[in-house]
Amino acid sequence: MNVLVAGGAGYIGSHAVKMLVEAGHRVVVVDNLCRGHREAVHAQAVLYEMSLADTQGLFRVLRDEKIDGVMHFAALAYVGESVAEPLSYYDNNTAGTISLLRAMDEAGVHRLVFSSTCATYGQPERMPIVETTPQVPINPYGWSKWCVERVLRDYGAAQDRFAFVALRYFNVAGCAADGSLGEEHDPETHLIPVLLQTALGRRANVTVFGSDYPTPDGTCIRDYIHVDDLCAAHLVAMEALGPGDARFYNLGIGRGYSVREVLDTARQVTGIDFPVEYGPRRPGDPAILYADAGKIERELGWKARYTDIRSIVETAWNWFRNHPEGYGS
Ligand code: UDP
Repeated sequence: MNVLVAGGAGYIGSHAVKMLVEAGHRVVVVDNLCRGHREAVHAQAVLYEMSLADTQGLFRVLRDEKIDGVMHFAALAYVGESVAEPLSYYDNNTAGTISLLRAMDEAGVHRLVFSSTCATYGQPERMPIVETTPQVPINPYGWSKWCVERVLRDYGAAQDRFAFVALRYFNVAGCAADGSLGEEHDPETHLIPVLLQTALGRRANVTVFGSDYPTPDGTCIRDYIHVDDLCAAHLVAMEALGPGDARFYNLGIGRGYSVREVLDTARQVTGIDFPVEYGPRRPGDPAILYADAGKIERELGWKARYTDIRSIVETAWNWFRNHPEGYGS
């Protein structure tokens, strides 16, 4: 297939591009490089530096490159930033996707794999989270993605041939097993990179946000899924799409690890006893979030291969230790 990957220079998008190329697909990347890295784009993929707001530009790329399907990763994804700058989030994430859908409509491209998020669920009362758990986001980031899911349902109902799958990610982590791709955010806020950068001495210490949660060790519990498993699910989902499909799947490993457990694992994997501080809770963090990922396994046969936190942290450490300055190293 000829696949357009929006956001293919970002952390998850770049891993998807690599996997698509290795699976024999022709890949075209659209990325405005505001958060992504040119160096992360696979050498065999074509890169267009373009904003999602450029509907006509997107249309021309879709038409000229004879695109069969789109994977859409291009988004802003910092919860805190979304609270401070909601308009940027609705503009980039929601309006940007509508612009992409208009371009796809005009070009006659009818398949979309969309990066959604467990943030669309907010703070559910019951775990694990299933796809039918009520979706009540608690921040503009979650709402901006929720809005896209709503748009996709409505557009899908109006346009018979359009098929989409919205994949609701839990905590994506780890780096390409072969060490060729990694994770570089500025600023970095995610737990595993922050821990590994502290181990490398690039940060003075790491703060654990809250140790008084109603969990066995008092720290938050999250479901960490390896980026390669997550990308594999995208390929399976894209290939499974038939005309008119509207699918929604959780992507997690189906069990949670506490911040404390991830911290202990990072110390074991790196062999470095780096400094840690225990601080107050971070606003908006639910105590426990983990997925029931059974639906995509039952319907599409996808299953995570990395099922323990140690193997996930090992792949991340492989990247961070060899690229202490990120892609500039
Ligand atoms: N966390 C932490 N210290 C950090 C970064 C994260 O204690 O420097 C915690 C955070 O409060 C959450 C978990 O680690 O409970 C995962 O956070 P992350 O930002 O990686 O992902 P999120 O769950 O917010 O999507």
